[in-house]
Amino acid sequence: GRAWHLAARPHGWPTAEDVALREVPVTAPGEGRILVRNLHFSVDPYMRGRMNDVKSYVPPYQLDQPMDGGAVGEVVASNAEGFAVGDHVLHGLGWREYADVDARHATKVDASLAPLSTYLGVLGMPGLTAYAGLFETASFKEGDAVFVSGAAGAVGSQVGQMAKIKGASRVIGSAGSDEKVKLLVEEYGFDAAFNYKNGPVAEQLRQAAPDGIDVYFDNVGGDHLEAAISSLNVHGRATLCGAIAQYNDTEPAPGPRNLVLVVGKRLRLQGILVGDHTALQPRFVQDVSGWIRSGELKYAETVVQGIENGFDAFLGLLRGDNTGKMIVSLAH
Ligand code: NDP
Repeated sequence: GRAWHLAARPHGWPTAEDVALREVPVTAPGEGRILVRNLHFSVDPYMRGRMNDVKSYVPPYQLDQPMDGGAVGEVVASNAEGFAVGDHVLHGLGWREYADVDARHATKVDASLAPLSTYLGVLGMPGLTAYAGLFETASFKEGDAVFVSGAAGAVGSQVGQMAKIKGASRVIGSAGSDEKVKLLVEEYGFDAAFNYKNGPVAEQLRQAAPDGIDVYFDNVGGDHLEAAISSLNVHGRATLCGAIAQYNDTEPAPGPRNLVLVVGKRLRLQGILVGDHTALQPRFVQDVSGWIRSGELKYAETVVQGIENGFDAFLGLLRGDNTGKMIVSLAH
């Protein structure tokens, strides 16, 4: 089977020279292991960080080794109790056609309950990030006005809708195209949205939220974070979830120039790592599957077909080609 390898560490935007799709042997699973034919794998923004050789909360990808990440697939050989050929599993060895998985790191998923790709998106890691980052990290409460950046993406689209479902007074989103803005307002029920490419974020946010915001969910960093600090009301909270505007920077980006406002407004800016919030998983799955069934919560996926297009899908994600979760599908 083929697997995407990291061939060189990117400087700035990754290029085709930094990766290589290489053939690797497929072997029978050892004791306690399963062989999985991947059907879908995830490309996520955090993977850009793993291409750098820096210490972080996940170890960097190793040169000339397959890259990894979330995937769902079908068990084609099992040497582990509790797993049978034909079972569908969620696991951490994406970016490849066949995965030799330690069964302790595989979770069975039910294709009859939800499409398999949703376990990588709305019912998976990005969905839980939205849920935990809004309800736990930002201490969202009914009546709050919420601003979310990256609002048409996997995490952001869920944050905005979850806030509406739970009684936000106003939900504002920003995204990188007029079509995405239209989707947010017309399909996802956002009260206002703007295209950050059409003008300064601070100005557009002030217009969209004349009475300020109580919660900011930051997926972008940079000018978005600075604008949000200006618009946050007294005792406002911000969840710092990501800073995708900076992931390909070659120099550290300047911080928000208005950070001193945190003092007078007694703001709380708090980071989140989704891995800290696994205890929420059962409640998250119950709430979100219910909201999907009732039609209150919508989601989108942008599916790129074929492993050979996996790296382009990743670049597309960083560029904003996706609406909702970016998925690479290998299903034949
Ligand atoms: P998305 O589905 O939101 O895809 C990334 C999006 O980022 C693109 O679609 C693009 O949309 C937007 N983008 C790219 N460049 C810029 C830019 N310069 N300025 C503004 N927007 C930009 O990805 P996810 O939902 O998976 O992730 C969203 C954020 O959440 C990321 O920052 C990610 O790192 C973070 N994250 C953090 C987790 C945690 O535990 N802390 C877990 C999961 C995700 P557009 O067209 O709008 O520009």
